[in-house]
Amino acid sequence: MIAAVEKSSAYLSLNPEQRMKQLFAEFSERDILFTSSFGTTSAILLHLLHRVAPQHPVYFLDTTYHFSETHQYKEDLKKLLQLNVITLQPEEWKNTFTREDQTWSKDPDLCCSINKVEPLDKIKSNYKIWISGLMGAQNKFRKQLNIFDPREEITKFYPIIDLTESQAAAYMKEFGLSEHPLIKQGFHSVGCYHCTVKGRGREGRWVNRSKTECGLHL
Ligand code: SF4
Repeated sequence: MIAAVEKSSAYLSLNPEQRMKQLFAEFSERDILFTSSFGTTSAILLHLLHRVAPQHPVYFLDTTYHFSETHQYKEDLKKLLQLNVITLQPEEWKNTFTREDQTWSKDPDLCCSINKVEPLDKIKSNYKIWISGLMGAQNKFRKQLNIFDPREEITKFYPIIDLTESQAAAYMKEFGLSEHPLIKQGFHSVGCYHCTVKGRGREGRWVNRSKTECGLHL
């Protein structure tokens, strides 16, 4: 397992693009997993990948409960950045169960586990490093994360963890990246339509529940 503190310190003085370049220089592409939710801040990391490793697979977890605007945004970014997007889906019978049971309203952890965590778990063991676009500005849990975050089965890598909201906006502007279409309607964080309402930051996710993360990042 990677010595996370030393590794994070070594990457701290680098900018996000340099961190991505360094990671792809240090590790085999075969060992690097990249996922994207095609949410409101996803374009930055996707653009960095496009610059550093353009053909690298981008896994998208299709819970079957995404807004049509998210699917459209995915298609737009895929075309713009020529992304190699691979869609992962939950097991059909389990997904059907969550639809009929409306599991998101009774036990959202179980719903996320079936529709997000399990499909990714099936491929996660093939990789050593998982690149993810979490940002510290998004919530308290994310604020305390380091660039390298070793877990039992994989080490997570957050190249934009210390990017501020204004830096993120400046990056989007500099490279002409369009924002998620739901931002204009007041959604600042976008997940499944059952569990997302309008709101600043991540306040519109799993409203009135203690849940703040889907389980992929815990
Ligand atoms: S975010 Fe909501 S609908 Fe989507 S998988 Fe999780 S609980 Fe289910």
